[in-house]
Amino acid sequence: MSPLPSLYISHGSPMTALAPGQVGLRLAELARALPRPRAIVVASAHWLARTPLVGAAARPQTIHDFGGFPQALFDIRYPAPGDPALARRVAGLLDAAGLAPRLDPTRGLDHGVWVPLRLLYPDADIPVVPLSIQPDGGPAHQFALGRALAPLRDDGVLLVGSGSITHNLHDWRGGTDAAEAPYVRPFTGWIEQRLAGDDVDALLDYRRQAPFATRAHPTDEHLLPLFFAMGAAGGAQLGARRIDAGVDMGFLAMDIYRFDGAQAQSAAA
Ligand code: ZN
Repeated sequence: MSPLPSLYISHGSPMTALAPGQVGLRLAELARALPRPRAIVVASAHWLARTPLVGAAARPQTIHDFGGFPQALFDIRYPAPGDPALARRVAGLLDAAGLAPRLDPTRGLDHGVWVPLRLLYPDADIPVVPLSIQPDGGPAHQFALGRALAPLRDDGVLLVGSGSITHNLHDWRGGTDAAEAPYVRPFTGWIEQRLAGDDVDALLDYRRQAPFATRAHPTDEHLLPLFFAMGAAGGAQLGARRIDAGVDMGFLAMDIYRFDGAQAQSAAA
């Protein structure tokens, strides 16, 4: 069996769950194009911790970690099972890489996990293991986390980083039809070009090198899952492919990336 790609998904506003728009279409297409995973590990921008925490609940709850949204959003459940055995394996791989993980037997699925998974796999019948990110660790740390878990792709595990390729909530103006913020394309274009060139060093240093980096990400917890997905590609070749899902509300670019690593060339041949 050929390994699954790793993914980076821009999950957008929680409202994506009620009005999925382009990202819903792109994720449904993507799920049809992929072999069905045995399980899914999601590193979410909405679970921040000092050390890597691995969700080990057998039946993770749906977490509604937002406020001020319609009741319909709070009524949504994503009842996918957990996978405690896989959680232990994830912790074992992180431990072997010196990343000092801990199991969390009670963690549920935050909206960074369930909003995109519900669009990919609406039946909620594939086990899910959530993973925290470490905002203090920076891009290189998240990359190392993904790299440590890359072998799981050979065993039918889909590795997902869930964030947002641009994420400056100060630019929210309340409407859905706002003009596109001028920094969005230069920033996302820079990321796309560096990914296409497998320029991992430049990407890990994006905060100094990318145009409008701190404008696009005043804090970078929503970009850090990108580095997790890059590391999960498993080698120097990222095999990155961008899936364009538009720009939400003028400032949230909804780019999705799949990383096929060294397999990308044989797949394209
Ligand atoms: Zn978010």
